[in-house]
Amino acid sequence: MIDGTLFVVAAPSGAGKSTLVNALLEREPDISLSISHTTRPPRVGEQYGRHYFFVERVDFEAEIADGIFLEHAEVHGNLYGTSRTVVESKLCEGADVLLEIDWQGARQVRKGKPDCVSVFILPPSRVELERRLRGRGSDAPEVIERRLFNSREEIAHAHEFDYIIVNDRFEDALADLQAIVRAVRQRTPASARRHEALIEELLAP
Ligand code: GDP
Ligand code: ADP
Ligand code: 5GP
Repeated sequence: MIDGTLFVVAAPSGAGKSTLVNALLEREPDISLSISHTTRPPRVGEQYGRHYFFVERVDFEAEIADGIFLEHAEVHGNLYGTSRTVVESKLCEGADVLLEIDWQGARQVRKGKPDCVSVFILPPSRVELERRLRGRGSDAPEVIERRLFNSREEIAHAHEFDYIIVNDRFEDALADLQAIVRAVRQRTPASARRHEALIEELLAP
């Protein structure tokens, strides 16, 4: 069995990363989204185990010490981390896995899993990024200010990613993201392995 592909998606907060990823998963339901652990308090409507595993800082720190994370980082003053066993067992089963993480986590993942495919999402402008963050209505004004301030640091690492997509018209950005996933899935050797029977049949005398 060939391992699945690990996709990593990052963006400054408010660029539209989660909205794009959720729309991608509707079109490509066999990609498995990794649910992160975080010390951030839940937003209205966020559910434990669906959006995040919300945990206390002391428990998160104990989990770091136990080595349960494939990567972890402090983002906007909260800790976020990806469970190693969940990701690795799915990849081993041949499933594709997608991580929505920040640039620091992406760097750690690239080191351990150099075959991962990473995508950075840019907003079309600073004004639009701010408009989206405020329009989302999920964060307090000081949290929005902090996220806007931190967006520069996130964007400064865009060049480290395999692909960069601008999320201006949503449908275009979604098509771009889906095109990346579909192209990666047709790569050899995984694609050759999937189509082994067909290739043999076509080669038969
Ligand atoms: P939003 O995605 O910007 O709406 O806000 P979140 O609070 O959900 O996420 C904040 C930041 O944490 C984002 O930049 C995410 O990419 C990052 N993040 C989320 N989960 C993880 C994770 O498991 N590991 C790492 N390193 N970063 C994460
Ligand atoms: P992130 O996960 O990157 O923080 P979200 O997916 O929560 O961002 O998107 C931030 C806000 O911007 C949401 O209210 C979302 O509906 C909106 N949004 C996302 N993409 C677009 C787009 N292309 N045009 C306009 N609004 C968008
Ligand atoms: P939010 O708090 O708005 O859900 O997410 C804020 C940021 O944290 C997002 O930009 C997201 O990419 C990042 N993030 C979420 N989960 C993880 C994670 O597991 N690891 C890392 N490194 N970053 C994460």
